[in-house]
Formats: sequence, C-alpha cells, structure tokens
Amino acid sequence: MAEATATQTPAPYNKSTGSAVEEVKNCPACKKPLRKARRYYRNGTYYCNSNCFKKADATAKAAKTEAAKAEAAKVETAKVETASAEPAQGGSEPTKG
Ligand SMILES: [Zn+2]
Repeated sequence: MAEATATQTPAPYNKSTGSAVEEVKNCPACKKPLRKARRYYRNGTYYCNSNCFKKADATAKAAKTEAAKAEAAKVETAKVETASAEPAQGGSEPTKG
C-alpha cells in the first residue's frame, strides 16, 4: 500500500489586500498622513491645506509641460527621420554609350 502524502498547501491569503477601505491617506504634496478633521479637499484629492494643494498642482503642471515637450520632441524627431529615410532620386543616371 502506498502512502498518499498530502502535499496540499493552502492558497496564500493576502491579509493586506483584504482590507475594504483605507481610512488614513497621505497628502500627495508632503506625504504626511491626513487627519480626518483637518484636510483640504480640492480636485478630487485631499491635502493638508491649500499650500500643499498648490505645491502638488504646480508639480502636476510641471510634469504636464515636460510631457508635452517630450511629445513635441518625439514628433520632431520622427519628422526628421522620415525625411532622411526617403531615398534620393534623380541623382545619378547611368550613362550609355
Ligand atoms: Zn501636505
């Protein structure tokens, strides 16, 4: 008779992801935990105060500008690549005779 070794391991249960609602959030500007009573709500996000909101807003705007710049540079590069990739025509014709 062969012994049936039970190698059944229980599925890993993630306790951290089991939580339903995260009560305490951190300020996107200064990363400090936000208190329920004292928080500044603006544009769908909570901040410590208007100062932190301005800080985060400025950072977001700067990131947006940088992204736009990068996108523009990408387009410019693509244009140049397309232009240089075109074969030069009408340059040298084979001469007969
Ligand atoms: Zn803050």
